[in-house]
Amino acid sequence: MQFSALSLAYNALTGHRHWKPTWRDAAPKDAYDIVIIGGGHGLAASYYLAKEFGFRNIAVLDKGWIGGGNIGRNTTIVRSNYLLPGNIPFYELSMKLWEKLEDDLNYNTMVSQRGVLNLFHSDAQRDAYARRGNAMRLEGVDAQLLHREEVRAMAPFLNFDNGRFPIQGGLLQKRGGTVRHDAVAWGYARAASDLGVDVVQNCEVTGFRIDNGKVEGVETSRGFIRAGKVAVAVAGNSSRVMSLAGMRLPIETHVLQAFVSEGLKPAIPGVITFGAGHFYISQSDKGGLVFGGDIDGYNSYAQRGNLPVIEDVCEGGMAVMPMLGRARLLRGWGGLMDMSMDGSPIIDRTPIDGLYLNAGWCYGGFKATPASGFCFAHLLATGTPHPTAEAYRLDRFETGHLIDEKGVGAQPNLH
Ligand SMILES: Cc1cc2nc3c(=O)[nH]c(=O)nc-3n(C[C@H](O)[C@H](O)[C@H](O)COP(=O)(O)OP(=O)(O)OC[C@H]3O[C@@H](n4cnc5c(N)ncnc54)[C@H](O)[C@@H]3O)c2cc1C
Repeated sequence: MQFSALSLAYNALTGHRHWKPTWRDAAPKDAYDIVIIGGGHGLAASYYLAKEFGFRNIAVLDKGWIGGGNIGRNTTIVRSNYLLPGNIPFYELSMKLWEKLEDDLNYNTMVSQRGVLNLFHSDAQRDAYARRGNAMRLEGVDAQLLHREEVRAMAPFLNFDNGRFPIQGGLLQKRGGTVRHDAVAWGYARAASDLGVDVVQNCEVTGFRIDNGKVEGVETSRGFIRAGKVAVAVAGNSSRVMSLAGMRLPIETHVLQAFVSEGLKPAIPGVITFGAGHFYISQSDKGGLVFGGDIDGYNSYAQRGNLPVIEDVCEGGMAVMPMLGRARLLRGWGGLMDMSMDGSPIIDRTPIDGLYLNAGWCYGGFKATPASGFCFAHLLATGTPHPTAEAYRLDRFETGHLIDEKGVGAQPNLH
């Protein structure tokens, strides 16, 4: 379907009853070269498989609707302000793909590079951010260390003189920002579908057929589907789905909540994160303040969270930005986070021939969507990892080559 001023006017005048579906709602075929489970990163992977590697006989299966997973539940923040060599080039690849995504997909995903500012509140934290900024710049990524008055010029409404957490400055990545999350799902689904990919909704994978160590296909709620290769990208359901193939993953599932206020006039210039508590906020183009904080501390597969965490997040917000208390909270929701034991993701083949895994994204997988899709497609098409994703091996938990970005070890609640 093509968008134009004419089609917009025609549909507006006819009660929006004649829009055609953005992508084909395909029924599953009996067999594919590649079956991808999960309509988040999986959609991106299918698009790059078709576009960059010439595959066409691909299906993306999702047990729900496209955009119903974390890809449509996140707080839309994108950035590449990482510290470790295993991470920076990968997230910077993603940032570069975001920068040209709208042209690439011919779809308005509302990529807005409004800047990501991480506040610091102590000398030790300043040193840590200076180190992070230097690591980024060494890899060619933009980073600026701002002093207190520079932060004040950007965001005068912050609580600079909080008794416990005075704001001393911040680390700014100007190229970071926000992207409309569900438009990303729709844009990839449309572009993949146009290239011949079958995007199949309401199709839950319930098992794997594995013969002699090789995967032959998947059992689904809509019957058996044969596949040359099977790729799993199901976020918080990773441990459940992979257990169907007899694998136990170094992943725990937790709920992460997010919140949005009533619509307000433009107040917040970009994304701001509170360095002393776990709180991050931005303002959507509709005017809502979009914010979040910690994961709920217990393991759960329920896509909704608990009241104490809502209170904790709002307290963090009030500490750094007291004006938040004047806004009414409109909605809150939750998503299932695949918390890996070192806080970094997995993009790898598994010990089962033909079965591939993309998981462990924790809080941060939305910003990774383009690079994750691209690198997963590279792995599926060529059998070798993309150079920027080489460190995301499944066996690193066995060999000890962890990518412990935050240096907190195997504690998902601290990642
Ligand atoms: C509240 C919240 C805020 C967040 N904020 C940010 C942020 O600001 N920036 C950022 O970078 N990241 C953020 N994240 C994290 C980010 O959203 C995720 O890491 C990322 O979207 C994961 O992508 P995915 O493709 O792995 O998962 P998903 O988009 O969840 O896709 C997985 C899909 O698999 C499907 N599925 C599961 N089991 C099966 C099955 N058996 N059969 C078929 N299909 C199945 C699900 O229905 C789902 O649609 C946030 C997450 C949440 C919940």
